Amino acid sequence: MEQDLKGTCPACGEEVNWNYKTENIPYFSDILIITCSCPECGYRFSDVQNISTSEPVRYVYCACSEDDLAARVVRSSAAKITIPELGVEIEPGPACEGFVSNVEGVLLRVDKILDGIMIDGDDEQRRKAITLKEKISNIQGGKESVTLIIEDPHGNSLIHSEKAKKENYLPESE
Ligand SMILES: [Zn+2]
Repeated sequence: MEQDLKGTCPACGEEVNWNYKTENIPYFSDILIITCSCPECGYRFSDVQNISTSEPVRYVYCACSEDDLAARVVRSSAAKITIPELGVEIEPGPACEGFVSNVEGVLLRVDKILDGIMIDGDDEQRRKAITLKEKISNIQGGKESVTLIIEDPHGNSLIHSEKAKKENYLPESE
């Protein structure tokens, strides 16, 4: 199912198309992918929603070979991603995008952030970024393993693999 609905841009109020698309993930359920991009002001939005559940969920997935990097990852804008080996925590926030990707795609997103630090960061930050970029390329080559943890208080996220451990958890109250 894919549908365009007319709406207004939350940033500038122009009329824009909101795109709603469902995608079926085997053994899981349908997810809804919502995207909007405003040609007038450049505002972009994307998020994913699990249609069937809203229980808090945590997935822990260890990728130890190149093949493991192909596992599907659905991340909603409310989910937190932790990659302990890289010391990376991607916190949810209003500027956060939901996405459907795979483990390698998540690593590429981190790598892109590191590219930004290489340009804007100080010497210390650059040194760290170089070390992390090396680790990422080792992981991509299957030379190092990596753990991906996704915590979603609304259950909209998942890592789709038999090797992914699914746990319930209690979200920290704010
Ligand atoms: Zn706009």
